[in-house]
Amino acid sequence: MEVQSVVLKRTFDLYKEEYEKAALRALNSGWYILGKEMEDFERKFAAYMGAKHCVALNSGTDALILAFRAIGIKPGDEVIVPAGTYIASVIGVTENGGTPVFVDMDDHMEIDAGAIESKITDRTKAILPVHLFGQCSRMDKITEIAQKHNLILIEDCAQCHGSSFKGKLAGTFGNIGCFSFYPTKPLGALGDAGAIITDDDKLAEKIRLLRNYGSKVKYHNEINGVNSRMDEVQAAVLKVGLAHLNEGNIERRHQAQMYMEGIKNPKVIIPPVYEEVYHVYHLFPILVEDRDGLQKYLVDNHIKTQVHYPIPPYVAECYREWGYKWSDFPNAERFAKQEVSLPIYAGLPDEEVQYVIGVINRW
Ligand SMILES: *Cc1c(COP(=O)(O)O)cnc(C)c1O
Repeated sequence: MEVQSVVLKRTFDLYKEEYEKAALRALNSGWYILGKEMEDFERKFAAYMGAKHCVALNSGTDALILAFRAIGIKPGDEVIVPAGTYIASVIGVTENGGTPVFVDMDDHMEIDAGAIESKITDRTKAILPVHLFGQCSRMDKITEIAQKHNLILIEDCAQCHGSSFKGKLAGTFGNIGCFSFYPTKPLGALGDAGAIITDDDKLAEKIRLLRNYGSKVKYHNEINGVNSRMDEVQAAVLKVGLAHLNEGNIERRHQAQMYMEGIKNPKVIIPPVYEEVYHVYHLFPILVEDRDGLQKYLVDNHIKTQVHYPIPPYVAECYREWGYKWSDFPNAERFAKQEVSLPIYAGLPDEEVQYVIGVINRW
């Protein structure tokens, strides 16, 4: 048997006819930018999230950049971010001239909520929890800290569409929730797309202006904006994905359950999940000391895996000037060196999950 780490065509084929119909509807409408499909998606995604506003954008990275721009992050401002995340989370801060202040990860592979307060200074403006792998971060503690210190809370929800903490959806705790609809994400477009959600009228309005050259009325540019609009074809196919989001989450939770029950190899650690969280398993991370050995053994048995993420942002080449060392954040370092992501996606047959489990147990 051969197992790929992700096969997007299989996820697409689950709802192929609906996707094709939606895309064709948008193509035949003769209206491709800032139209009815996007407005309808914004309404439907806001309703799903229970948020007052959704503003559809070009990508998750833009969602983060525009969220930090809208709250006024500028040079000298500090934003607290997890040390072990995808670099796009940090780009949202640095693109506005802000300084990311890293906090190490906890054993659940999320930002260590208990370590946040010691990093707060009089320059701290915001906290950015990143709900990694599909697991909502410890939002009870993080919300409490933000309120106590009067800090803005921006959530990076690029991997956690439909995840919740004590029944409250990830993305609805803070001032702004930032989403990516990159094709592999729990809610994926068939190209690049992203969005923000917020209950704040002013922030929603500002991001609406920012995404369209800073103008509401053509040629009246009130603020210095960018072009970050979601196109009509992506909005149309995203409505199909949204209608099936819960099914996909349930399917991946089932695959994760199989891994958790089936993997019995003392060399493999499955990181714990917070009891209060509904995990949507965008990814299924395991930790092993001999990562190269395991990945090679899996490849010899025709199984492809990925690593999320081998180089954490605090030691990224582009951020060299800050002078961080790998050992500054021991958990982030350990995860970067030991993490392997097992195949998990809507459309992955149970037999392939079972095969991966068998091979891992023989390693
Ligand atoms: C995917 C991702 C992003 C960026 O989203 P894009 O749509 O690819 O720009 C940001 N943060 C995290 C945690 C991600 O996984």
